[in-house]
Amino acid sequence: MSRKRIVVLGGGTGGTMAANRLRRRFDEDEAEIHVVDHDDRHVYQPGLLFVPFGLAQVAEIVRPRSRQLRKGIAFHENEVEAVWSERDEVLLDDGTALPYDVLVVATGVRLQPGETEGLTGPGWNERAFTFYSPEGAAQLQRALDGFEGGRLVVNLVDMPIKCPVAPLEFAFLADWYLRERGIRSRTELVYSTPLDAAFTKPIASEHLAGLLSEREIELVTEFNAAEVDGVGGKLVSYDERELDFDLLVTVPLHGGAPYVERSPGLGDALGFVPTDRRTLQTPVKPNVFALGDATDLPTSKAGSVTHFEAEVLTENVVRYFAGEELDAGYDGHANCFIETGFHKALLIDFNYETEPLPGRFPAAFGLPLLRESRLNHLGKLMFQWVYWHALLPGREIPGLGPAMPMGGKKHIPIHA
Ligand SMILES: Cc1cc2nc3c(=O)[nH]c(=O)nc-3n(C[C@H](O)[C@H](O)[C@H](O)COP(=O)(O)OP(=O)(O)OC[C@H]3O[C@@H](n4cnc5c(N)ncnc54)[C@H](O)[C@@H]3O)c2cc1C
Repeated sequence: MSRKRIVVLGGGTGGTMAANRLRRRFDEDEAEIHVVDHDDRHVYQPGLLFVPFGLAQVAEIVRPRSRQLRKGIAFHENEVEAVWSERDEVLLDDGTALPYDVLVVATGVRLQPGETEGLTGPGWNERAFTFYSPEGAAQLQRALDGFEGGRLVVNLVDMPIKCPVAPLEFAFLADWYLRERGIRSRTELVYSTPLDAAFTKPIASEHLAGLLSEREIELVTEFNAAEVDGVGGKLVSYDERELDFDLLVTVPLHGGAPYVERSPGLGDALGFVPTDRRTLQTPVKPNVFALGDATDLPTSKAGSVTHFEAEVLTENVVRYFAGEELDAGYDGHANCFIETGFHKALLIDFNYETEPLPGRFPAAFGLPLLRESRLNHLGKLMFQWVYWHALLPGREIPGLGPAMPMGGKKHIPIHA
């Protein structure tokens, strides 16, 4: 085989894992691997949840991207301007054209708070915040520190978002934090969502709605946020319902990276990349693959999903070069710890066909599913170490593979 050139767009969770896994599969004389990212700050995003409560500092969850890449991977600190799939080239912001034999798209999502009227106007980062960026999470930490009670509204503007459970986790942790500070009785906590339930999947929704009600967190459903008055403290929906707030914690609208729209045939109307749900090849051209939040796949936008996808994608890049049939092995597997405060967490595990079920993961003697436990909380805390030292470098983790395990799961009927 002549020396191939693989270009990976995005040096976050998916891009780093894919590049490191590909480096393990190909010797340097078989393939050169390039990773492009517009900055050199790799954020461990699950850690952002803890920053507002003073349980983590931004500096502790950020590391240089280039140092997460294995030897023999070239890192380009550049903005991607466009992909010309017809010519097998990527255009970078400094005018460089980077040719490729295989392209891996892993540029995640972009946050678009400016798309909600008034959100980034007066009151932004004073009374209305997001913890979805390091800067936002740090500002919110200062605001929560000075919060003395009132109405705290957690709002998710629209789906899809990355880590759809993170705003729920924020609400649970806020309840715990406010109790610890002795100001819970002076605070009304509201969770508002455009969904018709607490979460996207019925069985998990029932459990999570139960937890919200236990914690006296008001659940407001089918609330499509249209406008924010950050000074007056008002969130208004498209059907003209109003939610007053003293502190708003929002998850803004998500879209794909801007270059996707400028790249002929690459993305859909929202800037996400249409991707085969089982092989991770894209329809734009057989030598273009995608993973992670950047795709349009009907599963959660989550790091766990990205990890399972990276395994299948790596195998398929190898098969593509060998001219073999691709592995249709990705089943939509997603796995998320849900922090519920008081040193406890839930765990959910699901795929395209099977929704989160109770039982144990990955087998009959594993972690409890859909049930609060300290073990799950410890699992969530330990995950940061696993992320930097096993997942990103592309090491195999026994029991944590792309195919969803059914061994420990219980089958229960859905209550409509
Ligand atoms: C608050 C929060 C909590 C979360 N908690 C969890 C959790 O508990 N469990 C879980 O599994 N997942 C969690 N996630 C989700 C998880 O972090 C993401 O799903 C995961 O990082 C997706 O990986 P990715 O590679 O697709 O995107 P990213 O890791 O975001 O990487 C995308 C990269 O592309 C780069 N990029 C974008 N556009 C360009 C461009 N034009 N040019 C150059 N570079 C570009 C970006 O700089 C970035 O580095 C959480 C996310 C958040 C925000």
